[in-house]
Amino acid sequence: MDNLSIQKAADLLLKSSYTVAFTGAGISVESGIPPFRGERGIWNRYNPEVLDISYFYAHPTESWLAIREIFYDFFGKAKPNPAHMALAQLEAAGLLQAIITQNIDDLHQQAGSKRIFEFHGNSQKLVCTRCTAHYTLTDVNLETLPPVCAKCGSLLKPNFVFFGEGIPEQAYAGSVEASENAQVMVVVGTTGEVYPAAGMVSIAKSHGAKIIEVNLESSAFTNQFTDIFIGGKAGEVLPKLARLVMGA
Ligand code: NAD
Ligand code: ZN
Repeated sequence: MDNLSIQKAADLLLKSSYTVAFTGAGISVESGIPPFRGERGIWNRYNPEVLDISYFYAHPTESWLAIREIFYDFFGKAKPNPAHMALAQLEAAGLLQAIITQNIDDLHQQAGSKRIFEFHGNSQKLVCTRCTAHYTLTDVNLETLPPVCAKCGSLLKPNFVFFGEGIPEQAYAGSVEASENAQVMVVVGTTGEVYPAAGMVSIAKSHGAKIIEVNLESSAFTNQFTDIFIGGKAGEVLPKLARLVMGA
């Protein structure tokens, strides 16, 4: 781990009165959730088509079989790791004002973070494709697929953003506002390739934010936007950063 960069990042956080974290799949890898891309990536084992919205409507049972395996059997057992905990502690200490996450795994909530913009929705919630009734996972039986709405009998969909769908309006507006206000943005574990989410970093930068990046390797942001790059695992870097800032 690069201690000098972490110290510089801590200094920036201490000077900032509005810090935003922007997180991607990498922050949850140490919780046992594989990222989408790369060697152990989810898409080496599943066809991304099952998460395409038109395909889902045309083949709900087939899509749901894959969705259940990826997001409920597999993601369901994951617990927040020290990276999620560190962000929750920073927020509680008044040192982090918002999290914008591309993740749908609910782990920031489970860690205790409060102000979270879920850019791509949340897998623990489901929505009726006809009457828009909302359900939490615990209210829905996934033994028989596809699951249907208790009120109108229509197909239920996980309340996360499928390929071909728009970003939920409130999460989008909140993310843009937080990015515009950010004096520091801490970008964690994302390739920076998924748009419009990745655009939040350029919004922050163009409004004067300093960009701190935590990743195992460089991303689409590194050369263009990043002021301080900290190479290392999120679960090791963020607790160390939080300790430096909160102990100061
Ligand atoms: P990605 O899967 O494309 O890339 C993961 C990134 O995390 C890479 O840059 C990698 O170097 C980095 N990384 C891996 N392990 C790390 C660690 N321990 N510490 C720090 N960094 C680490 O992810 P993406 O760019 O976020 O884009 C994929 C899209 O799919 C996003 O919308 C993403 O949130 C979603 N997705 C979500 C989940 C989830 O909810 N946990 C899982 C997979 C994909
Ligand atoms: Zn319904």
